[in-house]
Parts: sequence; structure tokens; C-alpha cells
Amino acid sequence: MKRRLQAYKYELRPNGRQARQMRRFAGSCRFVFNKAPALQKARYEQGESRLGYAGLCKLLTEWRNGAETVWLSDAPVHPLQQALKDLERAYSNFFAKRADFPRFKKKGRSDSFRYPDPKQIKLDQANSRLFLPKLGRLRYRNSREVLGTVKNVTVSRSCGKWFVSIQTEREVEQPLPKGGAVGIDMGVARFATLSDGTFYAPLNSFKRHETRLRRAQQAMSRKVKFSNNWKKAKARVRKIHSRIGNARRDYLHKCSTTISQNHAMVCIEDLQVRNMSKSAAGTAEAPGRNVRAKSGLNKSILDQGWFEFRRQLDYKLAWSGGHLIAVPPQNTSRTCPCCGYMSAENRRTQARFECVECGFEENADVVGAINVLRAGHARLACEASGAVRPPAAGTHRSDSGVAQCRA
Ligand SMILES: [Zn+2]
Repeated sequence: MKRRLQAYKYELRPNGRQARQMRRFAGSCRFVFNKAPALQKARYEQGESRLGYAGLCKLLTEWRNGAETVWLSDAPVHPLQQALKDLERAYSNFFAKRADFPRFKKKGRSDSFRYPDPKQIKLDQANSRLFLPKLGRLRYRNSREVLGTVKNVTVSRSCGKWFVSIQTEREVEQPLPKGGAVGIDMGVARFATLSDGTFYAPLNSFKRHETRLRRAQQAMSRKVKFSNNWKKAKARVRKIHSRIGNARRDYLHKCSTTISQNHAMVCIEDLQVRNMSKSAAGTAEAPGRNVRAKSGLNKSILDQGWFEFRRQLDYKLAWSGGHLIAVPPQNTSRTCPCCGYMSAENRRTQARFECVECGFEENADVVGAINVLRAGHARLACEASGAVRPPAAGTHRSDSGVAQCRA
């Protein structure tokens, strides 16, 4: 038996009062999130030490009782504390160099708040109602059954609609993985190519909608800012954005589900997507070269959501009993899988691989995938013998043994 955490997302159907309340609660959480850094800065300038989460929570109580910010006490206290917790996490990620400096939260941007205490949450699935503190009974679009015990609930707003994400925990039978091992080569021309030759077409959902999006953005820029027509145009832009996001998510989920359900071990190149997207423009001292071409590629990479795809593969494989192995992307596109000869000459064109040593010919992406699979096998063997210790970087999953071997 294994513990499985899963989140279920539904659209909320609040009444007018509840929608108003939710906007206010999100605003209060944003206020708290934004107020704390200024306070830390002031303390720092006065030579005082940084306040930790507990200290900030104490201050929060003062703010809620203070005359100036008494309206904070209308919002439920736990979500406000969670905002401080999120801030603390953002800071420690920054100090550990895992993330950029926490950004100021803007109104209307990722409006959300979280209820962390399951005792205060009541889920009535039979009547499609969810009880949340200070909001009361909320209706939601009950599209699927929630399995497991509720751990926490996040309320968020997107494109003018409110959503709830219910995180649950349950025990599941650990299934035996089906299928064998496979390597994946990620690319721009083909989204993913497997070492057995199957491939997934490029997503490009953004490209398809790009023209429509650009037109909508141009239309918006021609309107008088904050006028009614401008607001309408803005809503249209947001709608296209959300449609792009939905199409992309849908496609990624379909791909990652098929692959994870049919393989016990999946090897993938460990591409640093975050670094790749950053490096294009360069810095003022060292401006990037081929910025335009690179940013096109970067956009394409981000567009296809390689990172998200890997994240999905990781947890879906864990669910189905398999595991994901990330290998360093060294020479995977230039080495002959037949004789092992490694040379840039093997790859005369982007699409075709032709070994100059033994004459082996194959689609270049398939060759890449085969080499990724080999590297994965090698890595597994090294780890089994203790020669390589699983590195700490990368996404971390503690609940499955072999799955931690990613670079
Ligand atoms: Zn060869």
C-alpha cells in the first residue's frame, strides 16, 4: 500500500455575496503577502533580525486588531497565515538559489487563498456543496468523484471564474508496472520521440492561436484604456490565453498518461528548461548571441511545456508503479547506437542520422531516444553498484526508491 496525494479541481458557483467575499479574502491575503517584505526591509535597515513565520503570525494578529487594518479580521485567519507561509517558502527558495526573488503580488494576478485545516472544511459530494469558513456552503460543478480524505483546499480565480482545488490523501494498492523501458527525445519538430519509433506531433497550440491573440491584443491597444470597449477587448485577450492553456494542458496530459501507462521505466534527457529560456537575452555585460533565433526556440520549448510534461510523467509513473530517470544530455544526438562512434558528422542534417563509421541510418530523433534509454540503463547500473549517488538537484520525490536518480 502506498500513500497517494491527489488534487481535484472544480469550478465554483458562488452566489453574489460569496463572490464578493472571495474577492475580499484574496485581496486580504495579497495585502499580507505584500506588507511583510516592506516590514522585513524596515527591520533590516534598523539592524533588527528577520522575522520568521511565527513572528509574522504574531504581527498578523496585531494587524487584525489594529484600527488601520481592522478589515483584515473579516477574512479567515488560516488563509492569511498561509499567505505568510507562502512568502517564507518563496524567501527560502530564493536564499537557496532555487528561485527568483519573491515578486510583489498584483491585483487580479493569481488571486488565490488556501484553507489548510481539514477540520474546518466540509465536503458534501452528494449535494455538490463545499463548506468553507466565512464563506459558508458553496456550490461547485461536480464533474468527478473526490477520492480520499481532504487535506486542504485552495480557492483561486482565473478569467473571471472561481475554482477550488481539493487536495486529498489516500492509501492505494501499489500496482505492478506494465511494459518495459523506453527512452524519450524531446524536440521542436516532434514534441516527443520514443526509442521504439513512435512519436507525438508538436503541440504548437500557441502558434495556432498566435495570430488571433495578436489581433486581439492590437484591438485592445487601439481602445481608450479602462473604457468599456477596452475592458471587452481585454476579456477577449484573456479568453484566448486561457484557451491556449487548456489545449496545452490537455495535450500534455494525454501524452504523459499514454506513456506512463505503457512503460515501467522512462528515461528522459535532463534539459534545464529554466536556464535555456533565461540565457537567450543574456545580460548587459554579456548580451546573448542569436537572441532572435534562440528566443524563438525558447518560446517554442516553453510553448510545448517540456517541463510540465516531465513533471506529469514523474508523478504518473509513480502512480502506475514505474519510474522516471533523467540523464545528462551529452552527445545523445551524435553517438551511433549501433557501433558507438561519436561524431558531429553523424548528424549532417537535423532530421537524419547517418553513422560515418558503420553506415547505420535512422531518424535522428529516434537515435536520440535510443541513446537516452542507454544512458538511463547505465545510470541505473551505476547507482545499483553505488558508483553514482543520486544528486540532490531536480524535482524530489521521496516515496519511491529508484525514482530519485535524476541529475
Ligand atoms: Zn555506427
